[in-house]
Amino acid sequence: MKIASRVGAVPPYLFVQISRKIAEKKAQGIEVISFGIGDPDIPTPGHILDGLQAASLDAPNHRYPESEGLPEFRQAVASWYDRRFGVNLDPESEVISLIGAKEGIGHASFAFIEPGDIALTPDPGYPVYSVGALFAGGESHIMPLSEENGWLADLDAIPEDAARRATVLWLNYPNNPTAATADLDYFERAVAFAKRYDVAVMHDACYTEVAYDGYRPHSFLEVEGAKDVAIEFHSLSKTYNMTGWRIGMAVGNADLVDKLLTVKSNLDSGVPQAVQRMGIAAFDAPLDSVDERNAAYQRRRDIVVNVLRSMGLTVETPKASLYVWARVPEGYSSAQFSERILEERDIFITPGTGYGEHGEGYVRLSLTVPDDQLDKAADRLAAWRAEP
Ligand SMILES: *Cc1c(COP(=O)(O)O)cnc(C)c1O
Repeated sequence: MKIASRVGAVPPYLFVQISRKIAEKKAQGIEVISFGIGDPDIPTPGHILDGLQAASLDAPNHRYPESEGLPEFRQAVASWYDRRFGVNLDPESEVISLIGAKEGIGHASFAFIEPGDIALTPDPGYPVYSVGALFAGGESHIMPLSEENGWLADLDAIPEDAARRATVLWLNYPNNPTAATADLDYFERAVAFAKRYDVAVMHDACYTEVAYDGYRPHSFLEVEGAKDVAIEFHSLSKTYNMTGWRIGMAVGNADLVDKLLTVKSNLDSGVPQAVQRMGIAAFDAPLDSVDERNAAYQRRRDIVVNVLRSMGLTVETPKASLYVWARVPEGYSSAQFSERILEERDIFITPGTGYGEHGEGYVRLSLTVPDDQLDKAADRLAAWRAEP
C-alpha cells in the first residue's frame, strides 16, 4: 500500500519511552498521577446541559447542520464578543462555527497555504499550526519563544525572505504551553507586521476565559486594523469545560472567514445543532460558572507553583491559561527531569520539548488534575530535591 509522504512526515510522538513507563507502572498497580493533558476535569455546567436536553427532542436538530452554523449561534457569538471584548462582529459574514478550534486551525492551512508558502509558527507551540502547513504542502518558519522575550514571538527577528514568503502568522495568547499573555501593544505590532508583509494573522484565543487574580486577557480583534488582517479561533472547550462536545468558532476578517468556510464546507458538515444550542445557552448566561471554575484552577495553580519552587524549579505565577510552565533545575534536560519524577514519584509532567525544541529546559503542568489527586501529588513531590 502506498502511504502519502505527508503522513510519514508528521513528527514522531516524543514520549514513546515515557508512555511505556507509565503503562508499566499501571500494570504493576501503581497509581500514576498525570499533569499531562489539558482537558478540564470539571463537568460542563448544568444550564448548558439543559440546553442540550431540550434541543435533543427537537426533530430538526436530528438533521444535517449547515457548516457555517445556526444564525442564532453566530448571533450569540457576536453578542458575546461585543459584551466581553467590545468587538463588533457581523454574525452573517464574520462568524462561523467550528467543530472545536482544532478543526478550524487545521483546515485554515488548506485555505491559506500552498507549496512555496511559509507559515510563521511559534516554538514551543500547539503542534497543529505546523502540521497544518505540512499537510497543505507549505513550510513552517519557526519563531522561537523565549523567557527573555516574555514568550512573545519576536517579529523583528523574522528574516526578510521568510516574512516575504509567509502567508500566515500563528499567534496564541494566553499561550499554550508557556502560559504567557500578550498586551494590546504587542497585537498592534503584529497588525503592522501583517500589513507590511501581506500576511494573515491567525490568532488562537481559546484561553481568554481561563484567567486569574482578576486579569482579563484580550482578543486580538480589539486592536485597530486587526479585522483587516486577522481571523481569531475560539472555543467553548476551555471556557465552559466542553472539550467533549466539540464546538468553537472562527471570527474576524470576512474574506478569511469565507475562505475557511469554503474548505470546511467541502470536508465536514458542521456542528450538531443540539450542540450549537448548548453553545447558545453558554454564551447567553452570566459568567458565574466561569468565575467559580477559575477560582478552582487558581487554588490549584498556587499549590503547584509553591511545590515546584520548593523542589528547585523556577516558575513565574501564570496570569492565565490552564498551565504552569516551569524551568527545570540546573543539570537536567526536560526529558530527564520528567523521567526522574515519573520514576521516583509516580507523577507524569510533560517535557517542554513536546511542544518544540525551544521548550528544552522547561516542563508544563496542566491544572486539570482533580483536587484530591492534586493534594496527593503535592505530598509526593514536596520532599523531592534535585541532586546537588
Ligand atoms: C485546547 C486547544 C485548542 C483546541 O481546542 P478545541 O476547541 O477543543 O479543538 C486549540 N489551541 C490550543 C492552544 C489549545 O490548547
